[in-house]
Amino acid sequence: MSSLSVPPPQCLLQPFVVPHRLLLGPGPSNVPARIVTATCQPMLGHLHPETIEIMDQIKSGIQYAFQTQNCMTLAVSGPGHAAMECAIFNSVEPGDSVLIAVNGIWGERAAEIAQRIGAKVNMIVTSAGRYFTNSEIEQALAKYKPVLFFLTHGESSTGVVHPIDGIGELCHKYGSLFLVDSVAALGGSPIYMDKQAIDILYTGSQKVLNAPPGTAPISFSERACYKIFSRKTKPVSYFLDLNWLASYWGCDEKPARIYHHTGPVTALYSLREGLAILAETGLEKSWKRHKDVAEYFHTGLEKMGLKLFVEEKKARLPTVTTIVAPPGYDWKEITRFIMKNHNIEISGGLGPSVGMVLRVGLMGCNSNKDHVDMILEALSDALKHCHKSKV
Ligand code: PMP
Repeated sequence: MSSLSVPPPQCLLQPFVVPHRLLLGPGPSNVPARIVTATCQPMLGHLHPETIEIMDQIKSGIQYAFQTQNCMTLAVSGPGHAAMECAIFNSVEPGDSVLIAVNGIWGERAAEIAQRIGAKVNMIVTSAGRYFTNSEIEQALAKYKPVLFFLTHGESSTGVVHPIDGIGELCHKYGSLFLVDSVAALGGSPIYMDKQAIDILYTGSQKVLNAPPGTAPISFSERACYKIFSRKTKPVSYFLDLNWLASYWGCDEKPARIYHHTGPVTALYSLREGLAILAETGLEKSWKRHKDVAEYFHTGLEKMGLKLFVEEKKARLPTVTTIVAPPGYDWKEITRFIMKNHNIEISGGLGPSVGMVLRVGLMGCNSNKDHVDMILEALSDALKHCHKSKV
């Protein structure tokens, strides 16, 4: 008789099959064959010299993608949220005043993360689809004198790309660090970490970089490092402590890498290749392609009689388009119809935009006009076949 009280699960005794699907939601996006192949390379030890060389290549790739010379540049083992927590946990101490710009869900989440570690959280809030002017930001910086100001570059919940110019200088004028979330925009919309005086910038692997989710590039300026390495208390997270991550990624002066955690070795291969594709394409070309493809999509949507949620053209995020949920339709029926009949993922709203929009992502290798034609056809088919109430 077996000593086991839990039998092997039947579901795990079945063959493992995953369908092919076109991922035109706000992420993850499809992973091109070159990156899939990279993840099938042989496993290496996480501190083998070859792995360390790959980590160094990733660091150079992030410096290029972020346009920064920062030595403190690495990839967190985890999704975008891990980088978000890494940024805030390290730079903010309990009792510190922080200022968060909320124009969608990512500001809301950043505020909650800062609250959880006992920061004094102040917010400026605007409605979904809008962004802040530099003078609104300056007024709040002058009022709250925060140690950190958080802004989302590409608000994937609302489809807004936030202007960045001049804000870093304003932050420094008031003694704040400037933290930018570019998970949904990096590689698809211009950002220059050093030139725009950004102190902490992070992104995710699974959007424009087309790698699987699970690694998150992040970089810290000297000013940010000064605040972080002169803090009085230890960060609440051992795993995300920059002291440790700096040693693990060779960002400190020490000659040898120190074991901190076992990095996701094959995920690092995929990130290396995602960054390599961006380097080969060239940032400026990548930004232009995302913009051109998004504009082609927007024109097609308007021709179909659909409305874009973000009215101001220059505030439209090229990577994630928000479409006003077609009046009279149930948005869930539309997304389900497109998945079932066209094998394409698109999504509804998130946070403040739930029920208001449909969201379509065109990121990295998915940003091309053929995909736009496919999704326009799928949307038009859905509008013909889904139920429409009289409005
Ligand atoms: N910030 C933004 C702007 C995002 O779009 C996302 C992911 N949708 C995140 C942060 C969080 O990333 P992840 O889901 O990889 O944790």
